Amino acid sequence: FDRQDGVIWFDGQLVPWADAKVHVLTHGLHYASCVFEGERAYGGSIFKSTEHSERLKHSAELLDFTIPFSVAEIDAAKHLVVEKNGRADAYVRPVAWRGSEMMGVSAQNNKIHLAIAAWEWPSYFDPAERLKGIRLDLADFRRPDPATIPAKAKASGLYMICTISKHKAERRGYADALMLDWRGHVAECTGANIFFVKDGVLHTPTADAFLNGITRRTVIELARRRGIEVNERTILPDELSAFSECFITGTAAEVTPVSEIADWRFTPGQISKTLMEDYTAEVRPHAKAA
Ligand code: PMP
Repeated sequence: FDRQDGVIWFDGQLVPWADAKVHVLTHGLHYASCVFEGERAYGGSIFKSTEHSERLKHSAELLDFTIPFSVAEIDAAKHLVVEKNGRADAYVRPVAWRGSEMMGVSAQNNKIHLAIAAWEWPSYFDPAERLKGIRLDLADFRRPDPATIPAKAKASGLYMICTISKHKAERRGYADALMLDWRGHVAECTGANIFFVKDGVLHTPTADAFLNGITRRTVIELARRRGIEVNERTILPDELSAFSECFITGTAAEVTPVSEIADWRFTPGQISKTLMEDYTAEVRPHAKAA
């Protein structure tokens, strides 16, 4: 992945893709003092770019460091990266981390770096294929108690259990894994939020221990615009058998229906389909309806 054509924005400069390197004694690598974003550009414009830049800045503050670029500068840099790489549709990855000036837990004076890359990341499936739904495993690891880690930061350290859980799910033939939180409540997937449908009402876990995704909030708004009731609440695994539809939401996943979680079964239906279509229309406001 580190040898592609194109350019990466690195601390204010555009550098050739293969030259965007860090030293092995980087604090972010050893101690996970690193935050990032995942965004998508549709037709050359990044969906909710400013919200993502604000979340990036906020994640860094939660890890006790300040990114030395403003939200407006980050927005402009992301736009430049998409443009310079000639990609109208792209996945955009800003990442900020503590550098290599000091090695040890304390890194008060380490330089804060910011890099932004963009690459092609097609939608997981075409709409018809996507409507069949993906299969989810149930992860062994749980989302940690927010008293033990800044759970609202999109911080690299929080993804260690996600990679382990996703690898295990993939080995077992699943696309991803559902994670419970430390209390045993239904939480989210390894890189996406989760929704359920019962009797025409949407149910989604209260985002009190995991990332309140920008896609999650967009889908809640789209559902309410349609007059669909949305119930954010505690959801227990015992309740999963009572739901008819299930889907996940995230920048990468967009709206992707789920057909199975371990032994529970769901049938992607009208609400999943409607919200998939509404989300596509929302992110591509200028595209003509097919
Ligand atoms: N939860 C996790 C753990 C994620 O990595 C993501 C993707 N950023 C999400 C939820 C969804 O967030 P968003 O809709 O802002 O992409």
